[in-house]
Amino acid sequence: MSQYDVDLFVIGAGSGGVRAARIASGYGARVAVAEEYRIGGTCVIRGCVPKKLLVYASRFPDGFEDSAGFGWSFPAEPTFSWAALIAAKDKEIARLSGLYEQNLAKAGVAIHRQRAVVAGPNAVRLADGTEITAERILVAAGGGPTVGDFPGAELAISSNEAFDLAELPEKIVIAGGGYIAIEFAGVFAGLGSQVTLVHRGEKLLRGFDEDLRDEVKAGLEKRGVIVRLNERIASIAAGEGGSKRVSLASGETLDADQAMLAIGRAPHVGGLGLEAAGVRLNEKGAVEVDAFSQTSAPSIYAVGDVTDRMNLTPVAIREGHAFADTVYGGRPTTVDLSNVPTAVFATPELGTVGLTEAEAREKGEVDIYKTRFRSMKATLSGRDEKVLMKLVVDAATTKVLGVHIVGEDAAEMIQVAGIAVKMGATKADFDATVALHPSAAEELVTLRQKWTG
Ligand code: NDP
Repeated sequence: MSQYDVDLFVIGAGSGGVRAARIASGYGARVAVAEEYRIGGTCVIRGCVPKKLLVYASRFPDGFEDSAGFGWSFPAEPTFSWAALIAAKDKEIARLSGLYEQNLAKAGVAIHRQRAVVAGPNAVRLADGTEITAERILVAAGGGPTVGDFPGAELAISSNEAFDLAELPEKIVIAGGGYIAIEFAGVFAGLGSQVTLVHRGEKLLRGFDEDLRDEVKAGLEKRGVIVRLNERIASIAAGEGGSKRVSLASGETLDADQAMLAIGRAPHVGGLGLEAAGVRLNEKGAVEVDAFSQTSAPSIYAVGDVTDRMNLTPVAIREGHAFADTVYGGRPTTVDLSNVPTAVFATPELGTVGLTEAEAREKGEVDIYKTRFRSMKATLSGRDEKVLMKLVVDAATTKVLGVHIVGEDAAEMIQVAGIAVKMGATKADFDATVALHPSAAEELVTLRQKWTG
């Protein structure tokens, strides 16, 4: 019999923690998990999942508009109810959270619905004061929105609150130029809000391929989003009736119903007792781990956003699974974070995998294949929008190093293209694949001419 209450104590029942707990339990470990908010974590409760539901909702107006070209007309203007959408979203999130909980219970994992902190290398303390000893602790506490440091920053909402606003804002100012700012700008604009996106940089989406950055901005602007680059929020003051008076660094003032900050996320390490237990944090304040997710305290491991490796749900899930395989399954497993496909659910959406053109050029000679074309759907709808597809190819080996898409269903396409890139497919492999006609994706295998600019 072990000297500990449990073999593994997991702090945080989000994507990474739940996966690790279930798999470890499947290997025979006695596992407990603590969650201070709702089972499922950021992705399920107030991240990817509700976001995608809102994105779907926000795209219907495009559909209504496009349908006219295909013979549809409506006896009246479609109307939208924010309250109905949020209620439907809440119901679905409750269902999913329940499923996560059931799956944990089925796997024999004990659930503590309260905050837990590390009380030592082999102990955690629950909010009610109970101490539980564990042979190992897995920190899967995730992250949270970065808060602003300007006067009145506390008047701004973050993505946490954006999912549960009592009313759809007529006007909203969103700060940031990354995933969350862009996705919410698209959501609110699609649903009818007047959106001003304020970003400190010269372009949105730093780190993404330049062509994608330009295309996404154009897509937002076509849907009425006012994009203010090289700009910052200097302060926010309370206006009348709960409104916000947003002052920009340039001196301009914007009145809005809501101001939202989407200026990054930070690991949830505060007050967790990590440093006292010998867990080192890195220069960015995230838990430092090795390739097996082990921290500087040998009995303590960490996965997901709290380690700030690649802050994506499927990555946290992989890390959690690899941890359980390594420690309880007798199969040392690391997670390969190369060529991870990702999408920004703007409208039109962005999908990308592999190297950007600039990254590839730093490594050697590249050939670029690129097309911007009108989708078949846009012919009858008359929508003034192009699909962008781009292949970045190693000139020496002809390996496809990167695939970049902006257009309808880009996320769906990039998930599949990602298999080819992960396998090391060459341009000749793409060319040898017979096109599926008529589709937008067929352009990926019919790109014959090198882009010469
Ligand atoms: P990101 O890191 O994507 O973007 C942060 C943005 O805020 C950048 O444009 C950054 O500008 C800007 N910024 C940072 N600090 C400041 C500041 N002090 N003042 C003004 N602007 C600032 O973070 P998000 O919050 O959008 O998302 C967090 C993470 O969550 C993402 O990186 C991603 O990993 C994950 N996520 C993934 C999604 C998906 O897969 N679809 C969806 C949502 C989130 P600059 O470029 O100049 O640094």
